[in-house]
Amino acid sequence: MSESRGAKPGPEPADRVAIGITFGNSNSSIAFTVDDKADVIANEDGDRQIPTVLSYVDGDEYYGAQAKAFLVRNASNSIAYFREFLGKDFKSIDPTYCHAAAHPQDNAGNVFFSVKDKDAEGEASSVSVSEAATRYLRRLVTSASDYLGKKVTSAVITVPTNFSDKQREALIKAANDADIEVLQLISDPVAAMLAYDARPETVVEDKIVVVADLGGTRSDVAVVASRGGMYTILATAHDYEFAGVQLDQVLMDHFAKEFIKKHTTDPRSNAKSLAKLRQESEATKKALSLGTNAQFSVESLAEGFDFSSTINRLRYEMIGRKVFEGFNRLVEGVVKKAELDVLDIDEVIMCGGTSHTPRIANNLRNIFPESTKILAPATSVSAINPSEAQARGAALQASLIQEYEANDIEQSTHPAVTTVKHISNAIGVVTINTDGEEVFTPIMQAETAVPARRTVHIAAPKDGGDVLIKVVEGGTHIKVTKPEPKAKEPVNGDKDSDADSDFDSEEEEEEEKREKVWKLGKQLAEAAIRGVKKGGKVEVTINVLADLGVTVTAREVGGKGGVRGNLAA
Ligand code: ATP
Repeated sequence: MSESRGAKPGPEPADRVAIGITFGNSNSSIAFTVDDKADVIANEDGDRQIPTVLSYVDGDEYYGAQAKAFLVRNASNSIAYFREFLGKDFKSIDPTYCHAAAHPQDNAGNVFFSVKDKDAEGEASSVSVSEAATRYLRRLVTSASDYLGKKVTSAVITVPTNFSDKQREALIKAANDADIEVLQLISDPVAAMLAYDARPETVVEDKIVVVADLGGTRSDVAVVASRGGMYTILATAHDYEFAGVQLDQVLMDHFAKEFIKKHTTDPRSNAKSLAKLRQESEATKKALSLGTNAQFSVESLAEGFDFSSTINRLRYEMIGRKVFEGFNRLVEGVVKKAELDVLDIDEVIMCGGTSHTPRIANNLRNIFPESTKILAPATSVSAINPSEAQARGAALQASLIQEYEANDIEQSTHPAVTTVKHISNAIGVVTINTDGEEVFTPIMQAETAVPARRTVHIAAPKDGGDVLIKVVEGGTHIKVTKPEPKAKEPVNGDKDSDADSDFDSEEEEEEEKREKVWKLGKQLAEAAIRGVKKGGKVEVTINVLADLGVTVTAREVGGKGGVRGNLAA
């Protein structure tokens, strides 16, 4: 897949200075790895989340937070929310979020913006989306170069999982035009997983992870199987209805109503007032992620009236309930789409700016079982800053691959994070426990990328003897146990009966118990190991080849010989 790499010959590996970049519709970040530790770099304004906005004033180009501030009084010469349009033709874009900035226009199907970028009085120029991306990426990389004191030459850039080949090509071209060699494009959820898996305290183990990337204009959720260091994406969802801007809107409507009550004029009906209302609502929203109360204060919000108010988190969570519920449905929907249950999920990695919101993390905490880690600031002390995880992941990947020749990168890094062949059912052994019941022990989890090899040791019966090993496929299903109905005390009209019935109704609300149990599937092999020593162990190795053929080997640990069999794919 050559489109995922820089088309232009890049620098020699030894001359590369490589960073990680996340390029979002709302914000972007740059990160660099030193001694295996990736850090997000602050730009010259001190921002680590750099608004993806360009603004032109009197021929000067502003970007980031300064450009975002210009959306209030220089909207028509500001370009915002454009990443999404790369590689798309005019007919297929949704310009909704650009209504408060320069509007996208159609030039024979190509998207461009008309802005006065040379001087305020002169003619407006046509800036294509590709050119806007190039100008913005150049600013990002210049900031990184200034910070590092050396010229950045190359980057790993993260992209959504549904970025088309055309969009990838367009992004690579835009980066190349800004003189950046694109080492690799990696998918957003995998970047977040890399950041977590690279931490020294992480034990890399087989797990199923939900990555909830909740941004400003879109939410992207993926279910990813991590097996032996390989990532397989099992299901994804992309949503534009439940993201950060909808939470801004909740607060905008709230404060607009308060303002109307006081001054009988709607600040949403004038573009400048609306822009001020939007910026302050977003700031209030962020403050509510940290504290339980927040201020809202704007000078001359509309018709010259200043306005200030406060809101507490509880009220915010109440007025935003519908949006918060939307996030729950989105995450639950993707787990279902992967044909999994919440009980199958080991971790939920929350990333993207909106993942700072405590209500969203707490709701997911309630949806998933205790055993699932919810990695967000509100629910885990060890969570990585959700706004930084992906840039850090990209920087780690950049530092890993920068020393390779461009061709080697292309060949060796692709399958690891895209579609690799994997087994769909778990493979394990069935043994008989001391109660004479069949017990399934998984050796290789479902969704393990192949080729793969796993070994387990199985204890022989206490007194030794023959051990029968059955290798079978295993699926899981969810066993639901309803709570035992409580025998009710007869109500005989005594004074305590009210208290009793209250107690009963609480008991009745006790939730049913849901647990994951194995269901045995196709038997793959059977082997008998004769005369195992007292206290001995049998070693079973399962080897699944790239063509999904299976080899099973069973032998007594420390013993001679063994049984080996090949099975067809
Ligand atoms: P997209 O591409 O979806 O527009 P992005 O990836 O460019 O988004 P992010 O920085 O991940 O952008 O997310 C931006 C959103 O996160 C904005 O709506 C912003 O208000 C919100 N956000 C940032 N910090 C916080 C916070 N502390 N609490 C709540 N929301 C926050």
